[in-house]
Parts: sequence; C-alpha cells; structure tokens
Amino acid sequence: MLDKAVIRVRSGDGGPGVVSFHREKFIPRGGPDGGDGGKGGDVIIQADNNLSQLSNFKYKKIFRAQDGARGQKNNKTGKNGADLVLTVPRGTIVKERTLSFDNIAITDLNENGESVIAARGGSGGMGNSHFVSSTNQVPRLAQKGESGEEKEVTLELRLIADAGIIGYPNVGKSSLLSAASAARPRIADYPFTTLEPVLGMVDTGRSSFILAEIPGLIAGASFGKGLGHEFLRHVVRTRVLVHVVDGTSASPVDDMIAVNNELFLFDPSLSDRPQIVVINKIDIPGVREKLTGIKSQFKQAGVAALPVSASTGEGLKELLAKVVDLLEKTPPREAVYDREALPVIVPRARPREVAINRIGPVYVLTGHELERLVAGSDTADSEVRRQIGAIITGPRIRPRLQKMGISPGDKVRIGDFEWTW
Ligand code: GDP
Ligand code: MG
Repeated sequence: MLDKAVIRVRSGDGGPGVVSFHREKFIPRGGPDGGDGGKGGDVIIQADNNLSQLSNFKYKKIFRAQDGARGQKNNKTGKNGADLVLTVPRGTIVKERTLSFDNIAITDLNENGESVIAARGGSGGMGNSHFVSSTNQVPRLAQKGESGEEKEVTLELRLIADAGIIGYPNVGKSSLLSAASAARPRIADYPFTTLEPVLGMVDTGRSSFILAEIPGLIAGASFGKGLGHEFLRHVVRTRVLVHVVDGTSASPVDDMIAVNNELFLFDPSLSDRPQIVVINKIDIPGVREKLTGIKSQFKQAGVAALPVSASTGEGLKELLAKVVDLLEKTPPREAVYDREALPVIVPRARPREVAINRIGPVYVLTGHELERLVAGSDTADSEVRRQIGAIITGPRIRPRLQKMGISPGDKVRIGDFEWTW
C-alpha cells in the first residue's frame, strides 16, 4: 500500500545587496558600505518518527520558505530567510519532477530526523562594497538576490506493517483485517484470494498501528510458488504476528504448529517474533461449545489463545488492545529497505561565465552573476550606467566583443539594460 502526495515547494529568494556609503560627521566622503542580502530559506523535508501518514499534505499543496532580507548600511548583511521544514513519516521517498525524466527519486528518508533539501534558497545579492576596484572607488552597483527554486515534489510512503496476520487460507485473515481497520481486502472462500499483503490502519483510540494480512502461507512447497519472496519481505518487517486459526478446524493447535513450522523453516529469525494466537469464527454454532477444550489444548502447548469472531466483532477489542500492548513492549526492528539504485542528483551549477549572442547589431550578454548585478542596480542613474559600461568595456568582455566585430553605434544588452558602444 502506498500513500502518496504531490506538492509544490519554493525556496526563498535571496535578499538584494544594497548601495550605501559610509557617512560620519567631518568625514565627507566615506567608502561604500552597502551590505549583502540575506540568503533565502530552504525547503527541507525531514523524517519524523511520530508521523505515520502523509496527511499533512492532503489539503495544503504549496509550501514556501521565507525570502532573505535586503542588506543594510554599515556592511550589515540582511537576515536570512527562515527555512521551511516539512515533516513526513519515516520511509518516505522524495521524488522530484524534472524536465527530462518524469520523476526521479532524490532520496528516501529512512531514519528519524533524516532530511533532504528539496529546494535550495537563493543566495543574497552582494552590496556595493564588493565592487570597489582600482578603477571604481565609488561603486554604485549592487546585486539582486538569487531567485529561489520552485519544484514539484512527489512524496511516496511505503507503509511498513507493525503487525502481520498469518494463518492458513480461509481462517479469516482478510475478515479480521477489515473488521479491525479501514482496509477492505477481498474476502472469498478460496485460497489465494490475497496475493499481496493488504495493509490497514488500526486506530484503537489509545494508539494506532499498521496491520497487514500476510498471504501465501500454505503448508509444503507453496512458498516456492512465487509468493514466498513477497511474503518474506513483509513478515520480516513486522514486529508482532497475529496468528489466526479456524475454530471449526479438526485441530486448531496442529494447524498453528504446522504454520509455525513453515514460518521458521522459511526464516529461523522469525521464531522469536512475538505472536498472539487467535481462535476465529466462534460465532459458528458448535465452536463455542468446543472452545473450552480448544483453549486448554493451546494452554498445554504454552499458548494463551484469544477467541474472536471477525464476523460479529466479538473479542476484537481485547485482541487489538493486546496487539498494542505487545507493540509497546517490542522495539522497532532495524528497517530492512530494499534500497533501489537511486540516481544521484547533482544540482546544476549556476554559470558564472558570460555568454554573448549576436543578433544583428545587438550583442546580448547572458550570465547569472552579471544579470543579477544589472537587475540589482539602479540603471536609471547615469553613474550606475557608466559603471556597468566600464564592466562591458573592461578586460573580461571587451576583447570578446571586438573579436565578434562590434562597431560604434552597436548595442550591448544585459537583461533590459542597453548600452551603446
Ligand atoms: P483468509 O483466507 O484467511 O483471508 O480468510 P477470509 O477472511 O477470506 O475468510 C474466509 C471465509 O471465512 C469467508 O467466507 C469469511 O466470510 C469467513 N469468515 C471469516 N471470519 C469469520 C468469522 O468470524 N465467522 C464466520 N462465521 N465466518 C468467517
Ligand atoms: Mg485473505
């Protein structure tokens, strides 16, 4: 059973760097002291032991971390935006939608507290004190904060059963599961009705746990029929077993022993798994009369068996209370996950280089850093325009433009800023 949620996450934008100059009495021309913007908050997804479902994401679908604050004078960096931490149950797989692939797993969060950054906050823009150079002592340039990332993220939870129901076919495992939980497994009169485990959430009011019907337990070679693997995976993860026997059987005790033999042959480590034995179908006439005898047979085998009826619900409350008791006493097992080979996501480097594209007489400059600088500065100010011009005609860019054949009157464009050569 899979619990699934699709959400949008957006990290915070970086705060803008600012243009400011130091001002003090009697010091007429102080240096630039514009602080950097704060970093935008990350969106973090974190595993939390106290959760069992992805219900936090049922209605709310969009999650935003805080933006970074703008820089201040006196070289004071703006406050970082607060991270947004979304908590999910342990065992949640986090997947990201990418352009080239549909959904790529970023990670699975198996340990309590384990986390992943789903969207990284933008870095803050640099204030004008960073742009002092030998040729520019009074920089009026500052950088815009980097934008946050926005992503569609899929959360998938592979539910892991706390308790597993075992027993021969037709003893009433499916019936018991549906009577105890919200799960609605198919119930029928023939074996193999259930080919894979069916899980249900049981809420006793005191606490809730996941109950699974474990199929395919038939004496003899039946394990080899292809159900074995699935069976093993699930039964190994459960902490407590509810062993159901049919009250109408000729010998419920022998049934229990036979099933346990199969179980232990299959995986010896299962022999120490706590079991609660349940005599089902006590509503059927004749069973109740035999009950005292059946119970004393179990007692001789060292087992305190619990009579129930999955049909009428009799004894169910006591059974579930006992499961909760036993779960509280049984520590969680080491998680046994089939770790799929997960592709490693390498965040794309944000290019520092400047690319130049010529469109007729217009030379378009693109580059993350340069574009942020232009976007973060007041290009209406002629001094700012002059300083950006100095970068364009500086040693990094001028030779490349000349090589491409730029001539007087041509335009150089960065974002919506335009400069005439
Ligand atoms: P499973 O194979 O162990 O999952 O058994 P099912 O839950 O599919 O039940 C097998 C048959 O026994 C079905 O016809 C059920 O209706 C019936 N059954 C299960 N539990 C009870 C019960 O407590 N009382 C009665 N009278 N019938 C039951
Ligand atoms: Mg069944």
